[in-house]
This record gives sequence, C-alpha cells and structure tokens, in this order.
Amino acid sequence: MTAGRADLVVVGAGVIGCMVALLYRRAHSGAEIIVVDRGAAAGGASGASLCAAIPAAPTATLRALVRRSDALFAAIPVLARHLRHYAALYCVSPQRVADFRGQLAVADFVPAAPAQWSAAEAVYGPLARDAGRVVLDGRRHAYTFDVTAFVHAALRAPEPIARLVEGRAVAAVRRDGDRWSVETGDGVLARARAVALCTGPWTAPPVTGPDRHWAPPPPSLRRIVSLRVALPGPAADAGSAGSVIWVDESVSLIPAAGGAACYVNFTRGDWPPAAAGVHRAAAGRPVAPAEFTDDDRAAGLAAIARLWPGRPASGVGGLAGHDSYTPDRHPRIDRPAPGVVSVTGTSGAGVRLAPALAEDAVRDLTAA
Ligand SMILES: Cc1cc2nc3c(=O)[nH]c(=O)nc-3n(C[C@H](O)[C@H](O)[C@H](O)COP(=O)(O)OP(=O)(O)OC[C@H]3O[C@@H](n4cnc5c(N)ncnc54)[C@H](O)[C@@H]3O)c2cc1C
Repeated sequence: MTAGRADLVVVGAGVIGCMVALLYRRAHSGAEIIVVDRGAAAGGASGASLCAAIPAAPTATLRALVRRSDALFAAIPVLARHLRHYAALYCVSPQRVADFRGQLAVADFVPAAPAQWSAAEAVYGPLARDAGRVVLDGRRHAYTFDVTAFVHAALRAPEPIARLVEGRAVAAVRRDGDRWSVETGDGVLARARAVALCTGPWTAPPVTGPDRHWAPPPPSLRRIVSLRVALPGPAADAGSAGSVIWVDESVSLIPAAGGAACYVNFTRGDWPPAAAGVHRAAAGRPVAPAEFTDDDRAAGLAAIARLWPGRPASGVGGLAGHDSYTPDRHPRIDRPAPGVVSVTGTSGAGVRLAPALAEDAVRDLTAA
C-alpha cells in the first residue's frame, strides 16, 4: 500500500467500521483501505457488547435492516463463521402477543411445548412465567456474533481486508484537492478518496469541504449492562437450554459461549444521573467510565429478582458500556459531503444492524 494514500479511510474499528471495510473490500477488490482507531480495534462499545440478536424489531424500517443483516451474516463466510445460533423461548402476556408477533422479522413463532420450559428450568432453576403468559418457540433464530474474533480474522489475518492503524485519534477531515485529508494530532494520516466515520458513541471529527463545514451532532448516550451469572452444577448447559426472553419486561437470559453461564442484557433506565448529562461526549473520549460497577450489579439483580427467583446467589459479574441512541432508536447515516459518510445512533442494536448499515454506507461511498 502506498503510504499516506488510500481509496477509503474508515475512522473507528468497531463492528460498524470493520463491516464497512469488509463490504467495501468485497465491492472494490483492489482498493487500498485504512481502518484507524484512537485505541485498540474492537475496544469500544463493540468490545463490551454481548452481540446478541433476536429477529424482532418495533418498526418496519428496523425489521428491514434486521432481515438484510441476517442475509449478509449468512452469505459472507467471515461473518457466518462467527455466528452462534441458539434456541429461544419468548414469554409474552396475552395482550401483547399480537403486537409482538407483528414485530417479527421472520416467519411466525409457534407456542412452545411445556417440556421446553421444563428443560430451561432444569438448567436455570425456577423461572417466573406468570399465570396466563404465552410461551412462544423462537426456534434457532436468536444468535450471538463474536465481534472480537471477526475483527481479528478481518484485520489481523496474514492477508487483512485493510491496513489497521491503532492508537491514533482522528481530529479532522478536510478537503484537499481531489481527496480528503484525514488528520490526527501527529499530522496527516492519509489522503483518501472516501472516508467513513464510524465512531460509535463518541463524537465524530468535523468535516470541512471547499464550501461547507459539518460538525457532528453530539451523541445521546445510554448505558447498557450485561450481567453475567455463572450457572453451578453439572446440569448447567445454557447453550442447550437456550435463551429465555420476557418480552414485556425486555429482559433476556442469553447463554454464554461455553454454556456454564448466561447473561442478562438491559439498558439502565436510571442512567445517566442528572448531573452527568447525556451530551458530554468529546471527540475521541468516552463520557463516562465503561467499567461494570456495583451499581450496575445492583440494577441487574433488581431487574431479574422476580423473573428469575432461582438464580444462583454467587458468580455475578458483568460487562457495561455505552451506545449512541437516537430518539426513535433508528440509526443515523449522515452524508456530510460527497465521499464522506457517518454511521452512528445504533441505539443498543449496532451488532445486529451492522451488515445492513455498512451496505448502505458503502453504496453511498461508491455512488459519490
Ligand atoms: C454492554 C453492552 C451490551 C450490548 N449488547 C448488544 C447486543 O446484545 N446486541 C446488539 O446488537 N448490540 C449490543 N450492544 C450495542 C452494540 O455493541 C453497539 O451498537 C455497537 O457495538 C456499536 O458499534 P460501533 O462500531 O458503532 O461503535 P464502537 O464499537 O464503539 O466503535 C467505534 C470506534 O471508534 C473509535 N473512535 C471514536 N472516535 C475516534 C476518532 N476521533 N478517531 C479514531 N477512532 C475513533 C473508538 O475508539 C471505537 O473503537 C451492546 C453494547 C454494550 C455496551
């Protein structure tokens, strides 16, 4: 690769940025692509993420993205290799069943057999079903995607899809002749024909063209927590029991790889505390520590206290981080200038939407 020149510079080596690089490479086999991150690849939201997906979404737009992503996950070998599908039981109150079925992005789910619920309880211990709730069999449409393994395979393989530059924060993107100059504190990283800003929950760098200046909107952040609960005893195989999802409460038990633990995913409705504000993101810096805290643990245990009365008393840890949320939870694709695209606002679902969003970004970049 010619130093300092590229066809595409991707800013941000999270799941969105790496997926953009992958799809651009597939569309332009000889292209010179650089992926640059201020820290380590997959060290942002994607690295903290559980990367789980269920085939349901509240709007037709999101369902279309989910369907398109599912098709790309299945069709591209380096993606398909890192998927792990599992069984899922959806526990829904009768008054919400029709609404939930309307949100499915796949063929309808059928009522589960009582033995399936018993099999889940054999692994997880007593679970609250509540009288009258309907349990639907989600078959094996739920999955997790191993982002870290994908990023490793795509960017650290002997023949990577792009050149990875870690530890350099991009401060500005400026028009320079017929190219975009991608600038860091150490000077110009590259002059590129196209730039994709995939900075997740951090503010993207500004873009200055000959006749315009685009300053990215500061992201609104939410804190996401995945409580990890170790399952004791030889009977514990969450992989075979699959996932249990209480649709009304948006609480899911998700089997961990290896089977002896599961995760409970939830968004902290009580975060950020008023004093922190939601618009504090500064370029290249997280607004708040992403470490899992005692507070996260307490919030998680409170969320599952009634639903999972049989949960183990010890072995509770977790993951925590932030994502950029939009008011309607639809991702944002901005086009600051021809040849520059920005993808953000993935609202807690960036992994399952990543292939479709990347496909849209690459289409824009190719058309420019
Ligand atoms: C605990 C947790 C659980 C989650 N669970 C799920 C789930 O089950 N399913 C799901 O679909 N989603 C889940 N999510 C959400 C999902 O992880 C995010 O939507 C997704 O990872 C966002 O990817 P991204 O590439 O946009 O952001 P990131 O992964 O954060 O990538 C952005 C990258 O840009 C870099 N960067 C930022 N600014 C600059 C700059 N100026 N210069 C250079 N580099 C820069 C950052 O260092 C970072 O690496 C979860 C998130 C968390 C935190």
